[in-house]
Amino acid sequence: MIDTMLGGVPGRTAAHVVAGRTPAIIDPGAETSAAHVIGELHRMGIGSADLAWIVLTHIHLDHCGAAGALADAFPDARIVVFDRAARHIAEPERLVTASHAVYGEHASMYGGLAPTDESRIVPAADRHEIDLGNGFRLEMLTTPGHARHHMSVLEHATGTLFAGDALGTHFGAGGLYPNTPPSDADPHAGRESIAKLAERAPVFASTAHFGPVADAAAALDLADRQLEALAEAALAGWVADGSEGIAREVMRRLPLAETVGDAAALAEWEYLRWYDDNIGGLSAWAERTTASDDS
Ligand SMILES: [Zn+2]
Repeated sequence: MIDTMLGGVPGRTAAHVVAGRTPAIIDPGAETSAAHVIGELHRMGIGSADLAWIVLTHIHLDHCGAAGALADAFPDARIVVFDRAARHIAEPERLVTASHAVYGEHASMYGGLAPTDESRIVPAADRHEIDLGNGFRLEMLTTPGHARHHMSVLEHATGTLFAGDALGTHFGAGGLYPNTPPSDADPHAGRESIAKLAERAPVFASTAHFGPVADAAAALDLADRQLEALAEAALAGWVADGSEGIAREVMRRLPLAETVGDAAALAEWEYLRWYDDNIGGLSAWAERTTASDDS
């Protein structure tokens, strides 16, 4: 694992490196972290000609923003990304503009995304496999929920799940808390994705924010119950009082401070405005869901 040092701060976003004859990095981090991550890869003995795969769980800039810079620094590397999101890696302008609108005042902390030539992008469908050699094999699994275009990555030799944001966030000593940002988070889809991952019974699991969980099965179970609570809170809150109702119900059913349970982790949530983003994402979902129920 490499700490990408988002915003110069440790413990926010993690990149994962899987060894093998053709090594892979999963979620290289934000563009502003690229120089640091490239330096860490070199320090691990992965030279300019060695890195073969840049694997993206989804195209939020805190995960994928460094992909273009890494593709420049490692000219033989190919970028593996959900097929429906692949065009944004080749032509990132719209993605960057839309992302900066969500990040607001923090946009410069994340940076943008440099384009990569289409010939170096590998569009992945569900169950796409990447053979890293030396017995290591990655399988990409579509796991919508945090975002519609989210994939999780399973390494078969070790039984390791690289969950991206599918299980939520656990900064520092904090507990797990779902991360449901605008504009296409969907807690019901997230629960189906967790069931799909649980079927694979991973031995280890690691999250992008931040790193390994102690017990993969327990984390999957907890993440499912938390998404269930958020979905119920969002629907009840939306019907009663729109976004404000959601904020109230979420606080009642899954109180941030108590669930996170650690002052430093809570400060990270608040600094990054992820709690506010959660309410925004749940509001958009509740509005879509109740509208389609009416029709
Ligand atoms: Zn993320």
